[in-house]
Amino acid sequence: MNQQPIFLTPVFQERIWGGSKLAELFGYDIPNAKTGECWAVSAHPNGQSVVKNGSYQGLTLGELWTSHQELFQSDSPVFPLLTKILDASDDLSVQVHPDDRYAGEHENGELGKTECWYIVDAEPGAEIIYGHEAKSKEQLIQWIEAGNWDGLLTKVPVQPGDFFYVPSGTIHALGKGIVVLETQQSSDTTYRVYDYERKDKDGHTRELHLEKAIDVTTIPQSYKKETFDTHTREGITVTSFVSNDFFTVQKWDVDGTANLEASSKYTICSVIEGQGQLTIGGHKHPLNKGDHFILPVSFGPYALSGSMKLIVASE
Ligand code: ZN
Repeated sequence: MNQQPIFLTPVFQERIWGGSKLAELFGYDIPNAKTGECWAVSAHPNGQSVVKNGSYQGLTLGELWTSHQELFQSDSPVFPLLTKILDASDDLSVQVHPDDRYAGEHENGELGKTECWYIVDAEPGAEIIYGHEAKSKEQLIQWIEAGNWDGLLTKVPVQPGDFFYVPSGTIHALGKGIVVLETQQSSDTTYRVYDYERKDKDGHTRELHLEKAIDVTTIPQSYKKETFDTHTREGITVTSFVSNDFFTVQKWDVDGTANLEASSKYTICSVIEGQGQLTIGGHKHPLNKGDHFILPVSFGPYALSGSMKLIVASE
């Protein structure tokens, strides 16, 4: 029986569209006011989180994955998931990601990137780009070449608490004024379709990847608002957002005390609101907004108590 939750220290990434909300909302010690991404649970070579507590303290998540497979019992050769929090203080470039097959062939064996977003914070009027209106590949190419972005891109208004599933092949972008918790495949492959003709501080535009983007874009791609099942029992309401070959993602609203059984899978937990504690075998671990931890396979039984919201992901 595993009795130790594995708390992780995130890695922060500067982005031209970043800001300082990761400090304001979560109290993180961010490196500067252009901080776009918190890689909270990551074993990706471009930024690994590090174990904060217990007997594995100081190991990167990638090192823990390879040296202690008994904690995860996964068939995946690499830690397959990546949990991020993003602060879009400006519009992100319009982009699309490949699936596993395409990325494996064209990107040195990288994983594809299917992702999903829980909207943590959104300014009034904030919107995302989520899908496109082209009915055929010819039309997609035509509208991209003509720069008909208003005709092509589907815009969807967002509010805190909304959830969006973004499978590989979906044209998408976060808009200005949105903070999301993202659960995704552990991949850093992005094909940029449009960047609003923005220039960086040296006067350069960022590279676009139109040929690959057109290759991987799903056509057609229309937006439907989804509803999600919720299930309430003592101390907890579970909302099931998505469950597929890549990940299962839920929201846990804890209010009071919820007694939980050990899971047959390892579980990634992110506290996005409120505070409380995790109790196991007489040990209490305080939980605060912005904490991220992994419960290894067969962790438990345990209790979560307090008043808090968690986003919980598993393979
Ligand atoms: Zn993306």
